[in-house]
Amino acid sequence: MHRLVEPGTLFMGLALLALAAIWLVTWNLAAREQSAADRRAAVLAADMAGTYEAQVVRALREIDTTLKLVRYSLDERPPQVVLDELSQQDMLPPALLFEVRLSDAEGNVIASTHGPSHTNDTTPVAGQEGLRVELHHQATSAQDSRLAFHRSLSENGQQAPGWVSVLVSAEYFVSGYEPDTLEKQGVLALAGEEGIFLVRRTGETVHTGEQIDYAHLLEGNSGLEQPARVSISEWDGVPRYLVARPLFEFPIAIVVGLSQNEQMAAAAELRHTYYWRAMLVSCVALAVLTLLGRLSWKLRRAQTKVLEERLDHARRAEYLAFHDNLTGLPNRAYFSRLLTKGMQHARRYDKPLTLLFLDLDRFKAINDSLGHDTGDELLREVSQRLGRAVRESDTVARLGGDEFVILLPEITEPNQINQVADKILASVSTPFTLVGQEFRITVSIGIARYPADGEDEQTLIKHADVAMYHAKEEGKNNAQYYSEQLKTDSLERLALESSLRKALERQELLLYYQSKLDMASGRVIGMEALLRWQHPELGPILPKQFIPLAEENGLIVPIGRWVIYTACRQNVAWQKAGFPALSMAVNLSARQFLDDGLLRDIKGALQASGMAPELLEVEITESMMMQDMPKAVRVLQELRGIGVRIAIDDFGTGYSSLSKLQAFPLDTIKIDGSFIHDLLDNAGDRSLTEAIIDLGKNLGLTVVAEGVESAAHVEYLRRHACDQIQGFYMHEPQPAEEAALSMKKWFGSESTS
Ligand code: C2E
Ligand code: MG
Ligand code: MG
Repeated sequence: MHRLVEPGTLFMGLALLALAAIWLVTWNLAAREQSAADRRAAVLAADMAGTYEAQVVRALREIDTTLKLVRYSLDERPPQVVLDELSQQDMLPPALLFEVRLSDAEGNVIASTHGPSHTNDTTPVAGQEGLRVELHHQATSAQDSRLAFHRSLSENGQQAPGWVSVLVSAEYFVSGYEPDTLEKQGVLALAGEEGIFLVRRTGETVHTGEQIDYAHLLEGNSGLEQPARVSISEWDGVPRYLVARPLFEFPIAIVVGLSQNEQMAAAAELRHTYYWRAMLVSCVALAVLTLLGRLSWKLRRAQTKVLEERLDHARRAEYLAFHDNLTGLPNRAYFSRLLTKGMQHARRYDKPLTLLFLDLDRFKAINDSLGHDTGDELLREVSQRLGRAVRESDTVARLGGDEFVILLPEITEPNQINQVADKILASVSTPFTLVGQEFRITVSIGIARYPADGEDEQTLIKHADVAMYHAKEEGKNNAQYYSEQLKTDSLERLALESSLRKALERQELLLYYQSKLDMASGRVIGMEALLRWQHPELGPILPKQFIPLAEENGLIVPIGRWVIYTACRQNVAWQKAGFPALSMAVNLSARQFLDDGLLRDIKGALQASGMAPELLEVEITESMMMQDMPKAVRVLQELRGIGVRIAIDDFGTGYSSLSKLQAFPLDTIKIDGSFIHDLLDNAGDRSLTEAIIDLGKNLGLTVVAEGVESAAHVEYLRRHACDQIQGFYMHEPQPAEEAALSMKKWFGSESTS
């Protein structure tokens, strides 16, 4: 039904209908015209036949009367005298047309109205009674052919044998008609019983003496009133409305024929006109309908276009509603739907499902130091890498910020999950090139499995998130499974916050120390103070577990102050105990670094302990410097101003542009332990480490490698002229007394105490 009203179909149908109507009417009209013309011609022929018949009969009767009159008038006088007398009395037909003759039994003319010189051309057969007709045919000219009407003089036995005859030009019987009515092919004729045309006129031409099949001619010819029928004339093959009728009193038949072609010519012309008009009207109708069809098609197309645009718009709107603008990945709302659906599917078919919760490590630092455009670029790149790292049946979505989730249907085997996680970790940690520089970013992954780790969408996501936090705590760039224990941990984190407030007062915080070894001399030349929290119930807590908390709630400022004071005191205590003057490094957090009281606190600690400022080294990270460069430069210059040394910690993970380092007053670069860790397996880490060493040397800085764990590391770093090393290779961070013992080993015999 819908197809029927489509403009193409509709207008095609209309056009066909219009054409059918036009031609039906035209054919109808033409047919009617034809049959009317046909009837008219038939009637006309019949009428003409009637008139012609009457005319011929009248002429024949007159002739017969003359014959009888002459025969009756004959007496003892010579026949010529009788004829002359009759002629003078105007009793005979006009001599101009008619010749009256008398002949003897042998046919010799004995008297004539046209004089005696005539040859004997009348030879009626003896013994025949009544009026007889004979054609005197002149082969040379039909005009000269004459019809002879004879009556025997001896009829009734009154006279001597012989004949009275009237001769008249054959043409006389066919000359009375208007050529207009007969036209060129109309026929008037008289046929004799013996099978010839006594005379036949067709148009202007007169023929005499042709043979015809008399019986066939009269066949099927009707009575007076009947209209004529068309038949093919045997003598010239022309189809005619033909009437052929024998005369009642005479041995003659009249023939009237009207040419069918001529009679129907007017009708045919009219029919032509009709057809022409129909053709014209058809063309116009077609043209109009084509135009309308085209217009309507255009209209329809325009409508379709508007419709499609709306649809497109709706689709786009829907797409935007469900996809993340930046990466084109499904957004939180869409993912939530997908997850619900996935869980329903998993429940119905008893299939497993695994959810990975991803958070980029230190993404904030990139965003802050390199600008949001670069951050966006990085997120886009990461989303593409994630897409490539998983199968097509897996779903990658972005929840916002630097958080991504990945749904792995039908996988719960740790083996398989680990493979996927490793692939993701590797793919993300491959260096990026952004704004012409190479960067490394890592990702922490939390894994939660359905149904073990959560039976509804909310719980599963939350637990994957908890696992992800755990991965961060485990040093980032790794994947962790959710477990009930983690949940307890995260609950404990809440409890921690309140107990952390009391930790300072309760003296639960303490410092561990780790030595730094100088490569050239092979001696310990400094210490780094690393914070520990001895929790009464939970036991020792590592800084990464509570420093972010302290950062958040601001406790880091008083805690940091305590660290500086304690570290300085310990340094001086060791000197007093006989150790050489070692440097003492303390770590600063971002909040602490920007705190206005920092300089005052450091001065206070130096004063209180009596430690030389040159021995104190503060460690800050790249991101802390980049957050507010001008302020960072100012603070560092102030610290420099009082003689404190400055180290940049965890170098290589913060994406700072190398050239920017020059802006800061620095003394030391510490290469992040993560590069050292994989040094021997990872070419990227090797080249980065070497680059940092080179850079440090070029800037005139002391280069320290952190996380040095093996002799192989030491060997490598020695070969590449790294200045100092720090790590488990010497000893793990330890409380002051133990650290002193470990330190001694490295002083060996040179130890003073
Ligand atoms: P950091 O300053 O880079 O300290 C080095 C970290 O690497 C220490 O972790 C240390 O235990 C660990 N480490 C040392 N040698 C090795 C090794 O050979 N292999 C491995 N795998 N690790 C090694 P720790 O003590 O857990 O401290 C973690 C971070 O917490 C520190 O990183 C520092 O950024 C922060 N931190 C520590 N103490 C303080 C503090 O008093 N104040 C502030 N603001 N931050 C602190
Ligand atoms: Mg440090
Ligand atoms: Mg470090």
